[in-house]
Amino acid sequence: MSSIFSKIIAGELPCYKIYEDDKVMAFLDINPEVKGHTLVVPKVEVDKIYDLSEVDWVALWAAVKKISAHMEEVTGRRTIYEVIGVDVPHAHVHLLPFDETWEHGKTLSLSEDEFNSIREKLAM
Ligand code: 5GP
Repeated sequence: MSSIFSKIIAGELPCYKIYEDDKVMAFLDINPEVKGHTLVVPKVEVDKIYDLSEVDWVALWAAVKKISAHMEEVTGRRTIYEVIGVDVPHAHVHLLPFDETWEHGKTLSLSEDEFNSIREKLAM
């Protein structure tokens, strides 16, 4: 059975997409810990990030670098990373524009309009 992220990548489930290339897709986390909380996901479905092939690993971190730089330019905030992977068994990196209110595990409740306007700002 496909992971929830594979279904998003295949277009079977919706997301607020901010980036895509042939190996990677990035979209807003549906339970954001800060505004702009983004997940960068390899298109190939592997559970643990360190099980990615060399090629997919490089593509993932190259996309993370590119998106972080853009995120910092747009938000004026330093981008921080989390790699957790206990909820969704499909490797991914969390990108968060850091602000002082950030607390790991504490989520914001955003309206669809807010998600859409954040997506528009961050989309590449
Ligand atoms: P982790 O596996 O790194 O512990 O957490 C998985 C992350 O994926 C969580 O932050 C959760 O909010 C996010 N997530 C789970 N399901 C969905 C979904 O259907 N759409 C989006 N955009 N994010 C999701």
